[in-house]
Amino acid sequence: MDLGLQGKRALVCASSKGLGLGCAEALAAEGVDLVMNARGPDALEAQADRLRADFGVEVQTVACDVTTPEGQGQVIEAAQGVDILVTNAGGPPPGLWSDWDREDFIKALDANMLTPIAFMKALLPSMMDKGWGRVVNITSQSVRAPIAVLGLSNAARTGLTGYVAGTARQVAPYGVTINNLLPGIHATDRADSLDAGVSAQKGISLDEARAERAATIPARRYGTRQEFGATCAFLCSQNAGFIVGQNILLDGGATNLTM
Ligand code: NAD
Repeated sequence: MDLGLQGKRALVCASSKGLGLGCAEALAAEGVDLVMNARGPDALEAQADRLRADFGVEVQTVACDVTTPEGQGQVIEAAQGVDILVTNAGGPPPGLWSDWDREDFIKALDANMLTPIAFMKALLPSMMDKGWGRVVNITSQSVRAPIAVLGLSNAARTGLTGYVAGTARQVAPYGVTINNLLPGIHATDRADSLDAGVSAQKGISLDEARAERAATIPARRYGTRQEFGATCAFLCSQNAGFIVGQNILLDGGATNLTM
């Protein structure tokens, strides 16, 4: 299927690894030029080189922490006029409801709510002027059903979801769509660190922790960054222009919901 994205330009935040990289790869495969970002330059430059070589697209890199005002300024400057925005950043640490103080919430809100909002505020106007744009926010299945140990994520991402629900309907008349992708467990470094926590807590091996988690998922496995990226590219496609303000779960059936 031709997604109709050849020659478009996208910013993909936090994209040297994991789900962000999956989105960057899938867009590059459709002929989309990229602005890629991650905190460390090494993995970022390596992946940018690979995507240039594999897909012949232009890739600009900005190595910085996207949750800081300085980092946001650098990335927004590089990404002026993009057609597609994919927001992403690392997730908050696990813990218990009784662990977190105001500062912990401020950090989580900054990373997983206010950062994507800052990018939308900066980059939506030029999409609206052009009459075409796509925003995909990487959130979490924790928005549909809370994950007990990820209370900071539950809170911050639900705030973003409320913002998107209202904003998506205000920009849709200009040909711009905003949707959220909600990952369940995917095989990335983030999953490794969550599984390492379970392994330490239960005194089992990392492989046993992974197998235990996979057994709870109807698909009986973790998702891949390629599957995730393909869904992101579809949401950015010409064919997805009537999908507005939706929250798409990619979780192998893990969240037990009728709708
Ligand atoms: P990951 O740890 O595998 O990859 C993180 C990527 O983001 C790396 O490229 C890293 O450099 C970059 N990054 C992290 N924080 C950054 C920052 N502040 N500024 C710039 N770059 C930054 O993570 P992932 O598994 O790809 O997860 C992506 C998002 O999806 C996270 O918010 C995570 O909490 C969420 N999520 C992941 C899963 C999963 O199973 N992998 C499930 C639900 C939600």
